[in-house]
Amino acid sequence: MTETKRISFSIPTAHERLAALGLTEEEIERGLELVEQKYGPVDELVPGEYTIELPIEEAGVPVYTNQDMIDAFYAAAREIGENGWGWLSRAGLTGLVADRQGEYRGPAIDDLPGLTAAEKASIKAILGLTGAPPAEEAPSFTWVGPTGNCDSGRSGHQVEMIVVHYTASGSGAGVVSWFKNPQSRVSAHYIIDHDGKILQLVKDGDTAWHAGLPGDLARNDAIRPNPRAIGIEIVNWGPLEKRDDKYYNWTGNEHQGQVVEAGGKYWEPYTEAQYESLIELVSYLCKRYNVPHRYPPLGPGTYYERAQHLADFHGILGHDAINRYKSDPGPHFDWDRLMDSLREGVNS
Ligand SMILES: [Zn+2]
Repeated sequence: MTETKRISFSIPTAHERLAALGLTEEEIERGLELVEQKYGPVDELVPGEYTIELPIEEAGVPVYTNQDMIDAFYAAAREIGENGWGWLSRAGLTGLVADRQGEYRGPAIDDLPGLTAAEKASIKAILGLTGAPPAEEAPSFTWVGPTGNCDSGRSGHQVEMIVVHYTASGSGAGVVSWFKNPQSRVSAHYIIDHDGKILQLVKDGDTAWHAGLPGDLARNDAIRPNPRAIGIEIVNWGPLEKRDDKYYNWTGNEHQGQVVEAGGKYWEPYTEAQYESLIELVSYLCKRYNVPHRYPPLGPGTYYERAQHLADFHGILGHDAINRYKSDPGPHFDWDRLMDSLREGVNS
């Protein structure tokens, strides 16, 4: 009987050979294509020496035309309902239109003046430059503005908190028209309709009127929330009244559809699609503006007797935490679901 010896060995494949040269995955992929063009199917090659000319992109700045840059600025601005020309102008790049097909020779995106880090990151993502967060992190919004019910800018403040509301109404279109009506003197940045569609009415950089304070507090710039807040309105009737086993909304119409009981009252439940869109939107906004995933110390929907306590708060809360006369988003709102999803990182 012949003795045998078990020996393990491997024949380097073309992929391994290229990888051993320290090439990037992208270069390997391109290399394999070239090998295949020259020598036939890579899988059938006998291990050995093969030579290809792999073009190496010049290190540093990739080449973009001025039009590419303009397009990227417009696309990045549009994602958040802003104006591409405004961004170009802040960056001092409006001159690019004079030579649209010319090669872009301005500063690198990171060195451009007048843009925030988030704006630069978003432009870089669209241009496919490495190091930028993927563009798909931004949920899709439908721009339905503008409205006159807002202040231009944020009186020098940054976005530090996100306020969740319900609209006390039955349709996204109805809310938009109410928020555009000068008589209403209210607005919000975002509205989430029953089907989860996200509408944007006020630009993030402007102050929407959704979390006003009563009396003197309304004029106290140090504590009024609006200049520091992004307002999200979820389309929902709010409390329903029960009479003869039927439920009625505040307009007196009978409520069709599901009802939940919470906090001793009856409510229209939020839809799955609304929770999903809200989680996506809040997650995006928190990342974009560095808003921490936390409630105020007393809880997200507990009214703060002394509004000053919220003056330094950075995080996520309900309208009911800010104004004692408000109950939105209500006891039927699933704060745990929102916060747990944020902490788990829905986008990762
Ligand atoms: Zn509200």
